[in-house]
Amino acid sequence: MSSLTFPILQVLADGNFHSGEDLAQQFKVTRATIWNAIRHAETLGIEIFSVRGRGYKLPQPIELLDKNEVLKAIGEQRAWFKLEVLDEVASTNTYLMQHKNAAHATCVAAHVQTNGKGRRGRSWVSHLGASLTFSLLWRFQCGATALSGLSLAVGVALIRALESLGVTNAQLKWPNDVLVDNKKLAGILIELQGDLEGPSAAVIGVGVNLNLPKNVLESIDQPAIDLASVKAVDQNILLGVLLKHLSDVLSGFEAHGFIGLRDEWLRYHAYKNKVVMMLMPDGRSVQGEVKDVADDGILLVETAFGMQRFSAGEISLRGVK
Ligand code: ATP
Repeated sequence: MSSLTFPILQVLADGNFHSGEDLAQQFKVTRATIWNAIRHAETLGIEIFSVRGRGYKLPQPIELLDKNEVLKAIGEQRAWFKLEVLDEVASTNTYLMQHKNAAHATCVAAHVQTNGKGRRGRSWVSHLGASLTFSLLWRFQCGATALSGLSLAVGVALIRALESLGVTNAQLKWPNDVLVDNKKLAGILIELQGDLEGPSAAVIGVGVNLNLPKNVLESIDQPAIDLASVKAVDQNILLGVLLKHLSDVLSGFEAHGFIGLRDEWLRYHAYKNKVVMMLMPDGRSVQGEVKDVADDGILLVETAFGMQRFSAGEISLRGVK
């Protein structure tokens, strides 16, 4: 790890060449130190062109998160949040799960996640400047058992935020993936802390594809899409607006549960009355037609064995063509 890597990336973010000599002068270090910092960036999967006589350059300009811009975009509720922007972290969810004493409404966003997580040990693909990855810690007075439906509620917050930014065709795949054109734009991972009955806390992780290189999008093992191909949105504004809508939805969820958001969720439902395959954690799968979502977020699917109820935790839904 080099403490200069991200300050140098801030300079390279303009997409222009910067010579090793200029960078060394700017940061008052040797060219070898600059080279080491660049090497570290490469170990994080960041592509940097290095051309003799010209210097270093990123393949294209990138935009990095700016805490003040994010806070500005949250608007009036900004005082609720404690925002941290980390350069590099294994996973923002893991970070917050390990910081058990973090204040309510702490949001940790990262420029680079080296081990981004999906559900059940799956991984989440993200790249510097091309993905928004953050986690929000939200404390609830109720116990974890009252939080069923929370992952669906979070999906509603994401759709509201996207709609307010002009993305009007986003849908939800139960329990909580955000799709555009049936391709995954954003994923949500919720991990819970605390007692089943006592006060609890949720770490709500969100990954949004901003403008991933085509080869990266195609390397993902299910159809994926990025925001740039739908609508150009500044990532500071996106994070601010997402946090604003998350705070509205989470406050409403704590007061009324998922029931207050159910009708809205159903309006965004990508698989309403569609034939789907439900994949179980033990490898079994069940085919059926999606019928409804219950007041607690359980998915009702009409199968050959009658109406079956699926709760979010471990189950994946796949469309059947
Ligand atoms: P699913 O119902 O799709 O299985 P899930 O909730 O289990 O959803 P997640 O845990 O949200 O999936 O995300 C992990 C999965 O998402 C990966 O296994 C991969 O298929 C896909 N994936 C990983 N990175 C991305 C990305 N950047 N964009 C879209 N999809 C991704």
